[in-house]
Amino acid sequence: MSDTTPSGASARFTPRIFSGIKPSGGLTLGNYLGAIKRFVEMQDGEHETIYCVVDLHAITVWQDPAALPGMTREVAAGYLAAGVDPDRSILFNQARVGAHAELAWLFNTVARMGWMNRMTQWKEKAGKNAEKQSLGLFAYPSLMAADILLYHATHVPVGEDQKQHVELTRDIAAKFNHDYGCEFFPMTEPLIDGPGMRIMNLRDGTKKMSKSGESDMERINMLDDADTIAKKFKKARTDPAPLPETVEGLAERPEARNLVEIYAALSNTTPEAVIAEHAGAGWGTFKPALADLAVEKLAPISAEMARLMGDPAEIDRIMAKGADRAREIADPILARTTEIMGLLR
Ligand code: ATP
Ligand code: MG
Repeated sequence: MSDTTPSGASARFTPRIFSGIKPSGGLTLGNYLGAIKRFVEMQDGEHETIYCVVDLHAITVWQDPAALPGMTREVAAGYLAAGVDPDRSILFNQARVGAHAELAWLFNTVARMGWMNRMTQWKEKAGKNAEKQSLGLFAYPSLMAADILLYHATHVPVGEDQKQHVELTRDIAAKFNHDYGCEFFPMTEPLIDGPGMRIMNLRDGTKKMSKSGESDMERINMLDDADTIAKKFKKARTDPAPLPETVEGLAERPEARNLVEIYAALSNTTPEAVIAEHAGAGWGTFKPALADLAVEKLAPISAEMARLMGDPAEIDRIMAKGADRAREIADPILARTTEIMGLLR
């Protein structure tokens, strides 16, 4: 790897995908459609794929140390059950590869306070209590930039909510390259495409569905059983009107649009196609059809997750092996970064 070639996109870098999910609660349908489902599909493309359970991000808000190992294994089980293949992808948890935290520290000296202050996720998660939040929550995007750039990842599949953090990753890479007069880090591109990139809360169509959200009724969990899924969709907030004749008719109807998007993402089609098929349908028809579709897609995955979680030692073995492979890529990149910065090691 040379860092003296002219800049430009990231053509000289190995096509490589990095992405992660926090073990901050049970996996949701948003995590599945915005992240995991696409991680699986991307294994068939031209990229090397690296998928991480980002436990160091999870602890930026309080996590019970007795529960964290189980949640970490649950996210790993979600990846595996959905079809992430540990032979074709590198799958591990972040805490096993110390270079993530080390590079994050180096990036803390590159990133600016003002950049962090502008982050929507910081504003939303800190709320009115910014003074009481951990420093880690504030510096979160710096760690995320480290996760990505430690592997010179060229592409990051994420949901819409993470777009701003990938942009900040590019800002950090650009400032590092500029300040140190090199072209060492790539300009990573976010991959945010298709329906399902921003699944909304079932009780409030203006907020995104999150695993750490307050009420269980606002989200579908990947481990929910068929009855629970049917009940949650039945109680999902909607307006009284039936589905419109065209997608334009969803414009001012966030809850209706969300349910159509979920349907489209689960069935690998477009909102237009869903509307073409269901135009004029009332919620009494559409919601049960949506619940059946979600159960059809999620039930095999949740059954496999439950089976995998019955053998935690096997999950740990897979993540430890993935971490060994991750270190092989990460360690030389970290070493070169410290060398560029003039640190003696
Ligand atoms: P938390 O509430 O703890 O932040 P989360 O549900 O937002 O949890 P993350 O671990 O922050 O999940 O994000 C993991 C991945 O899932 C990211 O790529 C993120 O963009 C994606 N994702 C999260 N929520 C959604 C959603 N509602 N729709 C689509 N993608 C989502
Ligand atoms: Mg989140």
